[in-house]
Amino acid sequence: MNLFRRPSVCLLTILVVVILFSPLACWLTGIGQQADTLSAQVIRLPDGTLVSSPKAQALHRLTLPLRVERVLVYPLLLLAFQFSGGALAWRVRLERLVGRRFRGSEMAVVLLFILTFHLALYLLYLPFNFYRGFVLMRQFGLSTQTAAGWLSDWGKSVLIALLTDGLLWTGFYWLLRRLPRRWPVVAGAGLLVFSLVYTLLTPVLITPLFYEVRPLEDAALRQRILALAGRAGMAVDRVEVIDASAKTTAVNAYFTGFGRARRIVLYDTLLAGYTPDQIEVVLAHEMGHWYYRHHLLAVLGVGAAAWLGLFGLRWLLNRTWPRLGLRGPADVAGLPYLLAVVAIASLLSLPVQNAVSRYAERQADRFALEVSQKPEAFVQLFEQFAEQNLSPVDAPGWEKFLFYTHPSIAERIRMAELWVGD
Ligand SMILES: [Zn+2]
Repeated sequence: MNLFRRPSVCLLTILVVVILFSPLACWLTGIGQQADTLSAQVIRLPDGTLVSSPKAQALHRLTLPLRVERVLVYPLLLLAFQFSGGALAWRVRLERLVGRRFRGSEMAVVLLFILTFHLALYLLYLPFNFYRGFVLMRQFGLSTQTAAGWLSDWGKSVLIALLTDGLLWTGFYWLLRRLPRRWPVVAGAGLLVFSLVYTLLTPVLITPLFYEVRPLEDAALRQRILALAGRAGMAVDRVEVIDASAKTTAVNAYFTGFGRARRIVLYDTLLAGYTPDQIEVVLAHEMGHWYYRHHLLAVLGVGAAAWLGLFGLRWLLNRTWPRLGLRGPADVAGLPYLLAVVAIASLLSLPVQNAVSRYAERQADRFALEVSQKPEAFVQLFEQFAEQNLSPVDAPGWEKFLFYTHPSIAERIRMAELWVGD
């Protein structure tokens, strides 16, 4: 531990500087300031290949390095903080603050550590996220928000995140003390229940905090959507519209809920700029996810992987806590280390998760073509998506392997062009 202290402090300082200054470095390239002058038109070469618009390419030149930085720097930062002795010092300071005045003061220290540590991370990443989520989006015309609006959304999401971080990690350390051997069994079940409840409550409790949700008024479109749902064999409870245009120019639609409380949610930007045929294709794709039960399978799959992961974490924690200078596996001063292990494990499993996701998206695309029987609308839809969302039409293999949760737009268009209806 002592051996690593000095290099860790150096590394920690460097990483903090990188996180704080990388937005400035991106800004200084001047690429964003010239975004206005670039065309958003997708280029189609004579042989039919699609090429991203100059504007989408410029945006990508800035977002890709930031994305790579985020996944590599974040776990390193956590490890450097752990090995610098910072986590132990912070726990000692909180213990002095809380004292031993009341029963449960140990858990109070745990909760305070979790909340202050996460809050420090959110604040450290604030300039980075402000640049990526607001400045860039404004420069490229993808955001319609004000800075105050963005900051208020940021504040709300930090509060929600602190609430869930506090709940989950306090529960985790409480279990670790109560059931030193069998905690992964209970923690895994708890995690699964939590993610099911969270998925069910998101449209009811969280979406309304950020958007205004109203029922779809256009009766003709409503009828079309319900008829489409009928063809797909899906019972839809409600069709809703959210006022996404107050924040973004991007388009999207999704479908939420299990069992009987099923609803389809459309961005108002989709209603404004797309033909009924194109909207039908989007919804048919979402119905494809429902038809193959992708949402439920995702929760169960991630839950099962997390459960196995918890046993791995127990194995690791029981072997490493003395070397980290902790008092035991349940010492909250080991939290940065645990967060780093979780971040590294999810980074390593990202290609697998994304491959599964791309497979599911392809299934939903095929379903959309079969139910709607509108391959031309499908092709136009994705060309328009590429222009409106400034998505690159294609990417090098390594980038798709690491980051792509959906097939590239070029691949999706090719699939529709090759599709033969029945
Ligand atoms: Zn999808």
